[in-house]
Amino acid sequence: MLIDKSAAILRQAIDQFSPTHIVSMVSGGKDSAASDQVARELGVKIDMVMHGNTRCGIPQTTEFVRDTYGKLGDYVEADAGTAYEDYVLRKGFFGKGIGAHGFAYRVLKATPFRKAVSKFIRQRRRDVRILLINGARKDESENRKKNLQVWRSDPAAPNNIWLSLIYDWDQDSRDAYLESRRTPINPVSVQLCRSGECMCGTMQTSGERAEAAALYPEWGKWLSELEAEAKRLHGFGWGDTFPRRDSRQSELFAPMCKDCMARAA
Ligand code: SF4
Repeated sequence: MLIDKSAAILRQAIDQFSPTHIVSMVSGGKDSAASDQVARELGVKIDMVMHGNTRCGIPQTTEFVRDTYGKLGDYVEADAGTAYEDYVLRKGFFGKGIGAHGFAYRVLKATPFRKAVSKFIRQRRRDVRILLINGARKDESENRKKNLQVWRSDPAAPNNIWLSLIYDWDQDSRDAYLESRRTPINPVSVQLCRSGECMCGTMQTSGERAEAAALYPEWGKWLSELEAEAKRLHGFGWGDTFPRRDSRQSELFAPMCKDCMARAA
């Protein structure tokens, strides 16, 4: 049974790392809904639920996550604040493709996650080992099949250990499980077939943008206005190739970037 495999993964991780804290990372997509549900079913004492708020995605996703998980216990957002808009107005959009994506991930997710973990959990103490349970699955893409590890320590913060609790689950089993447990599902992820919190433009198509904008017109308007200003200032828009030589520092370790890395496969 897949839940037994998850139980074994969890046991091994706890034996190996003796975590002082366990955090459930929730994006608003179905995979992290399942990893959170499995963790609760296995009796994990979840110290905190954390959600990455990139502020470039569909705001209704964050509202759903806040409403659903905020009432279950301690809840924190790794908030990128104005990082996206600031960057776009300063230099233009991030560009397109894996290189641009690694950079966007660093600005919008990796840095806010590390900061939130430091601020709300580590608080300058030593020997704080944090297990970050997430919903990455190996069958999401060929790329993940080859590269996803059951656990991995964050290269920039080695005591932050990312654990793929539902590593072995396939999509059908995940969906059947969520249904059987009546787990609340984000309506945005039902409509768009992804969490919708990721719309930075590096990995999404213009068709996906148009679909999201038709369903969430306020978000669509916000992005169009930002794009008009960015084009005026820098001459290129959302989803366009970054026009200059790219020497920006990329983040290769992107455990909370599921939809986009699946696309990259
Ligand atoms: S595609 Fe999503 S997760 Fe990836 S960098 Fe952009 S906003 Fe972040």
